Amino acid sequence: MLTKHREDFQKCIIDWYLLNGRDLPWRRTNNPYHIWICEIILQQTRVDQGLPYYFRFIERFPDIYALSEASEEEVLNYWQGLGYYSRARNILYAARQIVKDYHGKIPANYNDLLKIKGIGKYTAGAVASMAYNLPHPAIDGNVFRVLSRLFNDYTPIDEARSYRYFEQLVLKIFDENRPSLFNQSIIELGALLCLPRNPNCKACPVNKFCIAFKNSSQHLLPVKKQRIHVRNRYFYYFVIHDHDQIILRKRQNEDIWKMMYDFPLIEFDYQLKNPVEELKTAPWPAPLLLHYPSNITLVKHVLTHQVLHICFVRLYIEQLKPLVPESHIIVQIKNLYKYPMPKVIVDFLKKEFDFGR
Ligand code: SF4
Repeated sequence: MLTKHREDFQKCIIDWYLLNGRDLPWRRTNNPYHIWICEIILQQTRVDQGLPYYFRFIERFPDIYALSEASEEEVLNYWQGLGYYSRARNILYAARQIVKDYHGKIPANYNDLLKIKGIGKYTAGAVASMAYNLPHPAIDGNVFRVLSRLFNDYTPIDEARSYRYFEQLVLKIFDENRPSLFNQSIIELGALLCLPRNPNCKACPVNKFCIAFKNSSQHLLPVKKQRIHVRNRYFYYFVIHDHDQIILRKRQNEDIWKMMYDFPLIEFDYQLKNPVEELKTAPWPAPLLLHYPSNITLVKHVLTHQVLHICFVRLYIEQLKPLVPESHIIVQIKNLYKYPMPKVIVDFLKKEFDFGR
């Protein structure tokens, strides 16, 4: 039914999109730089949350050259709060790569796009179709869900072969003459009507083609194979400060928040029952607890694959300088806004200090 009537299907979904699609800024442009930035920001991020970041980012880095000349610290600062910070580092690396290898022009070719750091099949398809109107599908989480349901297909969407499989599926209904409109229509259908829970099938413009709707199996789809393994981590942060200065360190390791700033940290793989007492025998800076009074704040911070149980141990100490090892720095509290930091740290600092971010 669906593949037999592909032109009818394309007309229904595109007509619906043209009337009902949200008026988002990147849809009014075919500027590949803008489309690329927005696609990266919107990975793992809701539109309403990503929109202000997009505007701020484009205003500060209006083109690929402006971005390529920025420092990693500044780009991370503009990304602060969005999470998944490897996206920001990749974007900067990619901008420099595009300036060096492609004369500052984002390639108008799907295979070349895939050679750019941080650009996978979905982003390559989105940029190729939306900026250059090239006939490539762009399958994001929304599209996986819509396709599973339209075809009533129980193939898992989270395996290595899933993209290739669903790419073949979407090509059966793909509108090669209007790739940009088609991709945006199916993405929007997933975002507005074909929702993960309670899809609004009655209002769906393509319900007459949808096999899951016909079989009442929408709620069983899509299928995911892997259960996400969540790791619990226990962070003991030492927030050491005097009247107007505080100790920070730059995270260098291959771990979350790489190249961002946090506090001296001791990590355990279990929760301490009495942190102040139990930490006293841990390495620097924990022995400071023997000499200075402390305040404790507990925060739980949930990431996709990790739950961070954070204990902020706040210590006021008059003389910071003799305490600081080379791996750490002392900064003015009023200048903290200059340092890219994870949101959970910024939230803590906002509550505890006055630093005007
Ligand atoms: Fe999704 Fe329902 Fe439309 Fe099928 S009919 S595509 S399940 S919203």
